[in-house]
Amino acid sequence: MVNAHSEFDIVIVGGGLAGGLAAVALGEAGFSCAVVDAATPETMKDAAFDGRTTAISYASVRVFRRLGLWDAVAPEAEPIRDILVTDGRAKSRFDKGAVSSFALHFDSRELGDDNPLGWIVENRFLRRAILDAIAGASNVALIAPAKRTGASFEPGGASVTLENGPVLQSDLVLAADGRFSALRSEAGLKTNEWRYAQTGIVATVAHERPHDGVAQEFFLPSGPFAILPMTSTDGGGRNLTHRSSLVWTEHADAAPAYLALDDEAFRVEIENRFGSYLGAVSLAGPRWSYPLAFTLAQSYAAPRLALIGDAAHAIHPIAGQGYNLGVKDIAALVDVLTEARDVGLDIGSMAVLQNYQRWRRFDSASLALGTDLLNRLFSNDFPPLRLARDVGMGAVGAIAPLRRFFMRQAGADLGNLPSLMQPESG
Ligand SMILES: Cc1cc2nc3c(=O)[nH]c(=O)nc-3n(C[C@H](O)[C@H](O)[C@H](O)COP(=O)(O)OP(=O)(O)OC[C@H]3O[C@@H](n4cnc5c(N)ncnc54)[C@H](O)[C@@H]3O)c2cc1C
Repeated sequence: MVNAHSEFDIVIVGGGLAGGLAAVALGEAGFSCAVVDAATPETMKDAAFDGRTTAISYASVRVFRRLGLWDAVAPEAEPIRDILVTDGRAKSRFDKGAVSSFALHFDSRELGDDNPLGWIVENRFLRRAILDAIAGASNVALIAPAKRTGASFEPGGASVTLENGPVLQSDLVLAADGRFSALRSEAGLKTNEWRYAQTGIVATVAHERPHDGVAQEFFLPSGPFAILPMTSTDGGGRNLTHRSSLVWTEHADAAPAYLALDDEAFRVEIENRFGSYLGAVSLAGPRWSYPLAFTLAQSYAAPRLALIGDAAHAIHPIAGQGYNLGVKDIAALVDVLTEARDVGLDIGSMAVLQNYQRWRRFDSASLALGTDLLNRLFSNDFPPLRLARDVGMGAVGAIAPLRRFFMRQAGADLGNLPSLMQPESG
């Protein structure tokens, strides 16, 4: 129950995948939290709210496991056993010489620990697990639908004002309000940002043959065309046909025409790129589109405010790492804030929040810029760049330790891992 002036340790603005998970994790660590979102919870869990899937790294899955969320997600999660990367030369796989002879194969079995390279989960199932956990947490209040309209940050505490009147008081506010974060700009935190001349077209397809847990990244001149293996069930345990989720990166000026095609013409365009290796392909749901952009906050903290998730860094989906970065933000914050509280420090002070910023900003900036570079290198047909990437792919493919490094990178299992992300012992 929220009164006109309710007090919490932490108020989280934005109850998306990042803000929601932060509420669960910080609640579990003993902080009282309010999470505010403009959307209604039931809408957020609906299939029509977000048609994307997320490639969850195995380091992120450890966080879900430790927070008790994984049991609800696991039946809806398809393990990625292999990743195949192919350099395409033309719009259609069926054109002569369309596929370069250089390809990369990442095989999870090479890591020797029986872990997949990650899991593909429909976003609605991640949201459902997170929102259900919030509903069951006694020290977490979900305030939704409610729009934040104001905020002030004083030496003695922060206040967040909601559109319908209540003011929430806390020691710390987390901005989890997405890539256009209004909290971030109101606090004067600057960003480096640019639009990609690309749109991400997302669709689910059904196909005749099983995908065997293989994710494909087919690099076309307009950008990557990813085919991501999905479960064959629909969340209610009902068996569906074999399914994959597509993330088709297309030139922004060409995307509207593809999106406007009728179902059969759209299916043919997909088949041209998808190929026939899984048999006949049909559409298994609506199509979605996302304008792609890069946004990186120059600072992740101000007095009594910290940025997490896309509010801190929104990156190209080429490597499927955007949300995984957000999960690591949350796990790092749990360590930083718990340690501060345990020694009696003010969790909203800059001395504490700078520890968070030091831990996360360099790590996410390097991954964000790496994905930007990858996109620039692969989304073109410029012969010298084509040669450079083919040579690079050949080298990675031939050198086993390099292949294993990239697989660990995909699993987000490198660098300074927070406690929630540490490998399980035994
Ligand atoms: C095509 C595509 C594919 C992707 N695939 C992957 C992948 O495979 N793996 C991966 O790791 N990442 C992936 N990502 C990235 C991932 O989807 C995002 O990083 C993630 O969804 C960001 O979550 P968030 O909670 O930070 O932000 P958002 O989802 O934007 O949530 C922000 C929330 O804040 C709320 N809000 C905003 N303003 C207010 C306000 N004033 N008052 C109240 N509430 C407010 C909104 O209602 C919203 O719910 C992909 C992205 C795209 C575009």
